[in-house]
Amino acid sequence: MSAVVGRFAPSPSGRLHLGNLACSLLAWLSAKHEGGRIVLRIEDLDAERCPRKYADLLEEDLAWLGLYWDEGGSHGGSHGPYYQSECADIYTASYEKLAAQGLVYPCFCSRAQLHAASAPHTSDGNVIYPGTCRSLTPAEVAEKRKAKAPAYRLKVPDEVVSFTDGCMGPHSENLLRDCGDFYLRRADGVFAYQLAVVVDDARMGVTEVVRGADLLSSTARQLYLYRLLGLKAPRFAHCPLLLAPDGRRLSKRDGDQSLENLRARYTAAEIVGKLAYAYGLQEEPAPRTPESLTADFSWKKVPKHDICLPEDLF
Ligand SMILES: [Zn+2]
Repeated sequence: MSAVVGRFAPSPSGRLHLGNLACSLLAWLSAKHEGGRIVLRIEDLDAERCPRKYADLLEEDLAWLGLYWDEGGSHGGSHGPYYQSECADIYTASYEKLAAQGLVYPCFCSRAQLHAASAPHTSDGNVIYPGTCRSLTPAEVAEKRKAKAPAYRLKVPDEVVSFTDGCMGPHSENLLRDCGDFYLRRADGVFAYQLAVVVDDARMGVTEVVRGADLLSSTARQLYLYRLLGLKAPRFAHCPLLLAPDGRRLSKRDGDQSLENLRARYTAAEIVGKLAYAYGLQEEPAPRTPESLTADFSWKKVPKHDICLPEDLF
């Protein structure tokens, strides 16, 4: 039996907030509970929105909390650092494989067209692509190219993909009806998250992906990519999202819940202990180190619904 390989895959478009941190803690505990390793990969595909200084801060924050990685990252680990912004050649090779299967086509739709009021939406608010550009003729494509550079989409079949999530349980999605043909590459040449994340998790030997429940519906698309690329899929566990006490979703714009502010007010053990309490891993919000939570960790203790931060916790 090979050991578990988990990962942190943060996107450095700002400072870490409590929600990101909770996912990192759960990913770390889940891997370490089984004696596994953690890979750190910086998801800075959109290099303009993700300056290196945020990546450095993020590594610093994770290390300060005691969430150490075993591979990747610029401050330790036996291999790496892994920055997606430096891996375009690797994604290109996988993209070409998909194109060679006749599954990739150019899409000229504008943002305004895609987000029209009449557009069908998924339950979590994404637009379901109706296949507008799927059947353009070569002549039509040539004509449209004169006006704008296209993005590229992957054709998906009318097929249900099912899997059992380590936290959320059974999940099914119809690729065509619940999502539609999805982006592999933007018009400016940047590869899409879905492609990069699959290629990277596979080549880094990741066997367990722990991330926020907002990415649960990406999993069917990613499983489809694993299949098309002939790669072995990891297992998945999507952790419940953390909401502000007033019920809003936390975001990187919430300065008060950013690590920058939290570090000024609490010790690392206090933050870890409070998060462990919010996620059902201990009964009191007492200070804890990540190591001290490892032995008793179980996904069974983690709620399956969004978690509203108690008013007086932070
Ligand atoms: Zn289109």
